[in-house]
Parts: sequence; C-alpha cells; structure tokens
Amino acid sequence: MVWKWLAPTEIYFGRNAIRENGEVFKGLGKKALVVTGRGGSARRNGSLEDVLDVLDSFSMEWEVFDKVEPNPSVSTVRTGAGIARKLGADFVVGIGGGSPMDTAKAIAVLAINDLSDEDLFAVKFDRALPVAAVPTTAGTGSEVTPYSILTWPEIENKKNLASSIIFPQAAFLDPGYTEGLPFDITADTAVDAFSHAFESYFTMKANSLSDAVAREAMRILGPELAALAREEIPSYERREKLLYGSLLAGLAISQTGTSIPHAVGYCFTYFKNVPHGRANGMVLPCYAEFNWGKTGHPKLQEAFSVSSFGSLEEFAFVIKKLVGRPPECSAEEREKFLDIFSQARGIANNLVKPTEEELAVMLRETLENGPSYA
Ligand code: NAP
Ligand code: FE
Repeated sequence: MVWKWLAPTEIYFGRNAIRENGEVFKGLGKKALVVTGRGGSARRNGSLEDVLDVLDSFSMEWEVFDKVEPNPSVSTVRTGAGIARKLGADFVVGIGGGSPMDTAKAIAVLAINDLSDEDLFAVKFDRALPVAAVPTTAGTGSEVTPYSILTWPEIENKKNLASSIIFPQAAFLDPGYTEGLPFDITADTAVDAFSHAFESYFTMKANSLSDAVAREAMRILGPELAALAREEIPSYERREKLLYGSLLAGLAISQTGTSIPHAVGYCFTYFKNVPHGRANGMVLPCYAEFNWGKTGHPKLQEAFSVSSFGSLEEFAFVIKKLVGRPPECSAEEREKFLDIFSQARGIANNLVKPTEEELAVMLRETLENGPSYA
C-alpha cells in the first residue's frame, strides 16, 4: 500500500518555546490577529504575554480577539474574520485549547476568502493566512492538524473543516502554560488525546508511520490516564508528558482522522453540552468492546498492552472513572443522535464498519453506562 505523510508544521517544544524562538513570528507576517478564549486563561497562564512581547519586540502590529467560546461557532469565526480584515492582518495566532486554535485556522481562511458556510466546509478556497498555534491544554493536537472543528447550528452538529491549507505554519508547545489547568479540564483533554491515538490506530487510513506515532502516544498517555484516575495532580514533568503525548496523537490523526467516538461525541457535546474529550471518553469503552468482540484484532490487544492497561476491562475502568456518567437522553434524542452520527465520515473510517443496528447497540450501552463488567 502506498501512503503519504504530510505534516508541514514547524514544532517548537519546551519551556520558553516562544521567547526563545521569537524570530519565527517575523517570518509569518507584519500584522497579527491574536485569537484567544473568552475565559481569559491565556492572560493568566502567560501565553498571551509571551506572544505579544515577541510581536512588540519586532514592532509588529497586533489586535487581540478574545471572544472564543468552547466548541466555537461559525459565527464567532466570522466575527473574528471581520476584525482581521479591518486590521489588514497578514497572519493569525491561535492561543488556547482546541477552540481558539481551530477558530484561528478558520479565521485565516475567511479573512481572505468570501465564502458561504457551505463553501467554507466544502473547502472552496486555495489559500489562507499563515497561522501560529499555541496550545494551553494537552488534548486536541490542533496545533499540528489540518482540521478546524466548528459548531454549525444549520446542521445541528459540529463539523470538521479539513484542508492541508490550514495546517499551522508553526506550533509552540510550552508545558508551563498547562500547569494551572483545573483537574477536570486536565482529565477531559488527556482523554481526548488518548482517544486520538487509540482511534487513529484502528482507522482505515492508518499506515505504518501513523501507527508508530500513535503507539508512542498511547505508551506515554496510558499511564498518565491511570494516574489521573487515581486523582494524582500532575507535576511539571507529567504536564510535559501529557503535552508531548497530545502532540504525537495530533500528528497521528493529522494523517488518519478519527472515527466512531468522535462522531458520537459531537452529538453529546452539541445537544448535551458535554466537554469534547469527556464526550469521546464516554463512548470509548463500548467502542473498544465493539471492535474487540467483532474482530479480536491483534492491533487492539497491542493498543491495550502498549498503553499499560493490560485488558479491555482495566481500560474501561480507568476511562469511566475519568469521564463519569453519560448524560440522560430520551428515546427521541437517541433516535436523533443515531440519525446524525451514522452519516458521519468518521464511522466509515473505523477498521470494521458497524451496521446501523450495531451503532444503535453501541449508543444504548454507552448511555446505560458502558459494558456491564466495567
Ligand atoms: P477548549 O474548548 O479550547 O477550552 C476549554 C476550557 O479550558 C475553556 O474554558 C478554556 O478557557 C480553558 N482553558 C484552556 N487553557 C487553559 C489553561 N491553561 N488554564 C486554565 N484554563 C484553560 O478545550 P479543548 O478541549 O482544548 O478544545 C476542544 C475543542 O477542540 C473542541 O471544539 C474540539 O472539537 C476541538 N478539537 C479539535 C481538533 C483538531 O484537530 N482541530 C482535535 C480535537 C478536538 P478560555 O476560555 O480562557 O480559553
Ligand atoms: Fe478530539
């Protein structure tokens, strides 16, 4: 099988990654729109100050757009793109979790392309402003992926804008920014990162290099999830591992995409307001059980053993401890979710294609709190 690997983002990893590599920003442009979350965490964890100081040191112009909500909507992107146009921005910096980074990528498109929502998601563009990404959660890997996941009320779901044009040009990963992350966000985002590696490993698009990267991500993240499940507060060294594992998992999905847990999880997030990583985690045990029961595939055994879980049971126990109970959903809601996620691209990307009936069982078991043994 011929496969391709395209991961063009320059990666700078380690404490003070931004201040020690400020000249990289000079190569991106002269006027920056800096995109952050509405909760102000980028101001508190030092990431925004580091970026603005570097921009100032090169006398660059900048404006901050700090209105991004979790699971950002297309309309927030349009507001940001309007500001970028007015400023005449020639590059965009996204600082935060996946939400501000994904917003920055989509702003980079709409700042220089007039597109309807449909044409945006259909990738009817061939250029975008350069983007620098600064993650402050250890979860999405968005800093190295060609994806921007946006909430699109017209389809009552989240939708993936996917194009190699939106790969960030540079990513700065400083574990120090994640030190103040509250425990629940640390756990949710760590589960998201693990889920990326685990899903990537079992996709149709997986290849030997994405598998190697995904295995390494699972090797690092598995014991970290177990430690979080024991409610251990991560030290700096462990924050470093979480961010590195999240980066690797992001690189893996940048090539393969995700599959069933993400497709189902988007419904839990859109309709039930469950945070992204937690929503995936709720699906993971039944998803793993489905694949295992259906195939007994050696790759699954390998995934459990490389991540130090030993067995499906232990895996399900840890994940359920971290993500808690799934939301209450009525029979009508279940029907609706099933209708929506069974159409998602990610479903067909799983190594075994589930039937509609199997998806319904997976959803029911997930909502009834997972496999009975866990
Ligand atoms: P997020 O939605 O970006 O942020 C969640 C919360 O964490 C926000 O309240 C945010 O506050 C806070 N926060 C962020 N960094 C913090 C820090 N260092 N200290 C304290 N609080 C902090 O969460 P996320 O899980 O990282 O991103 C989820 C989004 O990414 C979803 O929309 C998901 O679909 C998407 N995603 C994208 C990809 C991709 O490849 N593009 C992959 C997976 C997921 P502020 O409001 O202050 O920012
Ligand atoms: Fe994710």
